[in-house]
Amino acid sequence: MASRTSPPSSDAGTRERSILIVEDEDPIRELVATALRFTGFSVTASASGREALGVARNGTFDLLLLDVNLPDIDGFTICRKLRADGNQVPVIYLTARDDPTDLRAGFTGGGDDYITKPFSLEELVLRIEAVLRRSGTGGVERTRLVCDDLALDTESYRVWRGEDEIMLSPTEFRLLRYLLLNRDRVVSKNQILDHVWDYEFVGDPSAVETYISYLRRKIGDRDAQLIRTVRGFGYAIQSGQPAQPTQATQGGEAG
Ligand code: CA
Repeated sequence: MASRTSPPSSDAGTRERSILIVEDEDPIRELVATALRFTGFSVTASASGREALGVARNGTFDLLLLDVNLPDIDGFTICRKLRADGNQVPVIYLTARDDPTDLRAGFTGGGDDYITKPFSLEELVLRIEAVLRRSGTGGVERTRLVCDDLALDTESYRVWRGEDEIMLSPTEFRLLRYLLLNRDRVVSKNQILDHVWDYEFVGDPSAVETYISYLRRKIGDRDAQLIRTVRGFGYAIQSGQPAQPTQATQGGEAG
């Protein structure tokens, strides 16, 4: 499912737009999936929040339809986790709760729109089209995260060091993406566990150390000049080049 090689530029007009629907009520999920396929979308359906989080993290979707009330992870949490990964996929919540408090929580977490059940399929398709238009359609913004000569493309799942492409496992890729999203900031092992590993994983911080060492080896950072260990705190990806002198204070040491 996770397409690892997507074309460099997405042709909004011709490419089939893909939607992930997450809904635990079978009749609604099946009806919506069928209707959207009929409308011309490519549809992936999931009844489980946990499963959907993994699918969304490993695939490229143009839009997510997220049921808010799921038995395992609620829709708001899924969206928040994706946003924390740097995933800006547009999200429409399917909600039975018409409670403004709930919706505020959802939008704080980064949702784009919501539709209250029961809804008509026609209205749903109109909302989807509107959100896709606003987001520049198909238009997951393509993002390149960079630190020195290390570059990561969040959409095509490709990584380069200088001219050389580096092949990473999905976990290594998510780890590097998370570090780059937090460039120059120290992230703790627990933060990494929370954002890089899926929910099923019972957190063992030593796994983080292991994967950091895999990653350093693959990107040619054996002396840890790029991915630095901040003892007692965690890790930070930082420029290995000496900082360019700026007009501001040169010797200002922070206490
Ligand atoms: Ca539900």
